[in-house]
Amino acid sequence: MRRSANPVVALLLSAAFPLTARAQDPGQVEIRAERLADGVFVLFGQGGNIGLSVGSDGAFLIDDQYAPLTARILEAVRGLTPEPVRFVFNTHWHGDHTGGNENLGRAGVLIVAHDNVRRRMSVEQVLARVGRPVDTAAASPPAALPVVTFSEEVTFHLNGDELHAFHVANAHTDTDAIVHFRRANVVHMGDTYFKERFPFIDTASGGSIDGLIAAVGQALAVMDADTRVIPGHGTVGTREDLRAYRDALKTMRDRVARSKAEGATLQEVLAARPASDFARAWGQTEAAEQSFVETIWVSLGTR
Ligand SMILES: [Zn+2]
Repeated sequence: MRRSANPVVALLLSAAFPLTARAQDPGQVEIRAERLADGVFVLFGQGGNIGLSVGSDGAFLIDDQYAPLTARILEAVRGLTPEPVRFVFNTHWHGDHTGGNENLGRAGVLIVAHDNVRRRMSVEQVLARVGRPVDTAAASPPAALPVVTFSEEVTFHLNGDELHAFHVANAHTDTDAIVHFRRANVVHMGDTYFKERFPFIDTASGGSIDGLIAAVGQALAVMDADTRVIPGHGTVGTREDLRAYRDALKTMRDRVARSKAEGATLQEVLAARPASDFARAWGQTEAAEQSFVETIWVSLGTR
């Protein structure tokens, strides 16, 4: 992605809009593994959290962060299993989750994702913030594209588990899938869950506040009190954490929708600070809060 000349846009892109396939100073990044269940790990580095299943059937990765990190990610996997990486599953198309695809694809790893991941990665994408175009993402090289795609759901039977991946419509983007490790009782949410921070909804990629709330509801429906929940960004959570997040999203959405229905302008809604309590609770800036309020406004359209 091109670096923007506008410093405000550049800041937004780097801080709150991590779509770029380029890591920020990858030399300093350490890949850290946290064990969630037998043979199931989350890897933290830079970019979207990576899910990992290991066992006699091989390693299965969920998302792959940025290209400069591939060697370190593979080294971390080698520390947990002698078996090779056989699959990478993309939760959605954004570059901080698919940046390693080309390296892995060239190495013979089978890339799997929703139909729309391949569709969007195949051509240049406009990157927009609260409805306004700010940059573009170039089409990905053929080796980076998913080889197997699906429209609704797909199940992987490996390492003694069933990994059920299901599409959730128009949530963070229109390319999202959530992965449920049925036996290990772990769910990887992709970017339908930003733990204890304002979510980013990519409305230019078909994301929507109502779809996001519905997606979280679909994920909650497969969970129990013991489920470990991997967010796209943030630390591992529980079903209760995810419920609180869903309730927060609903509350903020309803506040904006009510004001809008009463005829308030966007400026009036922003001035009323309908998300300030969550900004305080999550330790987020007013800029992040107002950006999310405006995203809800844009997402609710002109109804
Ligand atoms: Zn994303």
